[in-house]
Amino acid sequence: MAKLYFRFGAMNCGKSSALMQVAYNYEENGKKVILIKSVVDTKGGNTLVSRIGLKRKVDVLINTNESIKKYFKQWDGKVHCILVDEAQFLSEKQIEQLWIASKKLDIPVICYGLKIDFKSHLFKGSKRLLELADEIEELITICSCGKRAKFNVRFIDGKYTDTGNSVLIDGSRSNVEYKPMCGKCYMKLKYEKS
Ligand SMILES: [Zn+2]
Repeated sequence: MAKLYFRFGAMNCGKSSALMQVAYNYEENGKKVILIKSVVDTKGGNTLVSRIGLKRKVDVLINTNESIKKYFKQWDGKVHCILVDEAQFLSEKQIEQLWIASKKLDIPVICYGLKIDFKSHLFKGSKRLLELADEIEELITICSCGKRAKFNVRFIDGKYTDTGNSVLIDGSRSNVEYKPMCGKCYMKLKYEKS
């Protein structure tokens, strides 16, 4: 029985690079891989670009209400692994459909994404992944202080902010950026700002 995997981590932990490494390993052995990304992530369009410069074409750029089930017939018996980038942006229903794919089509599904948004609340897709995934793994990244980062902190014009919509893609506006931070640094910024 194939598994549904959730590999999560804070911003800049190398999720896209890890995903492309997995794709490479499959393809090196003559196996077919499908790469899915949500349209919500406008960065790169239908190309996945990692911070260290790896690039790959997205096979399925999925809309927010689009059914993943309609691809099942086309994938059945032909696809060896389904990879999902920025899986937090998928709906609960889409995550359920990926779980069904892993069981019904017996294809491993590996989802990479953030667990929590910039207000430290679970994304809907990530919540469903935590509930359904057969295996959950945390990818590690480091805060500027050197400790392990858990939080994704939003900065606009270089200033910390804790207001706004949960989805605001960095690069969509030139002044938006996110920094991975440890609990202590995040707490100081959030509760001890002068
Ligand atoms: Zn820190």
